[in-house]
Amino acid sequence: MYIQEISIDITTKANKNELIDALSLLLEFYRGNGQTQGRIETQYIEKNKMVCLPFTLEKNSLNKVHNNKYVNNQIEKIEKLAASKIAIKTAGKSYADYVGPCTCKKSEFYILITNYISIDSPIICGSCNKSIPLYRLPQYYDFGYMPILAWEVNYQCCDRLQMNCEVGERWALNQMQEVKSQLSKQGVTICKKIEELTNIPTYYYLYNYKKNRKGDENRKCPCCQREWRLNTTLYNIYDFKCDQCRIISTISPNI
Ligand SMILES: [Zn+2]
Ligand SMILES: [Zn+2]
Repeated sequence: MYIQEISIDITTKANKNELIDALSLLLEFYRGNGQTQGRIETQYIEKNKMVCLPFTLEKNSLNKVHNNKYVNNQIEKIEKLAASKIAIKTAGKSYADYVGPCTCKKSEFYILITNYISIDSPIICGSCNKSIPLYRLPQYYDFGYMPILAWEVNYQCCDRLQMNCEVGERWALNQMQEVKSQLSKQGVTICKKIEELTNIPTYYYLYNYKKNRKGDENRKCPCCQREWRLNTTLYNIYDFKCDQCRIISTISPNI
């Protein structure tokens, strides 16, 4: 991922605390608009300069062309408050081998998927298995993508519970792997809406973990009970895909 440096000079007149709050809100708006990744970014004050370092999927993710009205208004507010201009530059790349998000002209399909440690976009391109920056999608709700990010956080909380094992493990696992759970329903609704907005089939990734995986490779689609096994495992991850129900899943990983 890219690390961007957003900075602003604090003029003597500006209230520091007010500026800190205003900059934090800008970061929330960037995130809600899919322009920054993860929820916590490095922030510090050096002499008279406030700096924060969010992750982004593309070098130009913070380019004005991607801004929505909340981001633009907040930038305007901050610049007025500080009586100086916000500066944005790319500080670097987090991983030397980061190859960037999807560059397909048109994706064959999308997948809604995340996990407890991911700070990537939760929308993956089915044609290349790379992520889609949310701002590339049509605006989903209130000029941004908050409902998709809310699902992402819910999923990550469940995944965290089942990874930690002691509290709510079974409940969390059921949320993740039962197609009728609240979590899955929320995700499936998002997939349907993305498909409506983009005309690109959008699949919900259904987690699958069985204590005993005997016969798991022959299981049927949990929605329509039809065959859904793929001839070859897709990207070394997906074994099942139902084109009617728009669900994609795996054979249980435990042996
Ligand atoms: Zn792609
Ligand atoms: Zn089905």
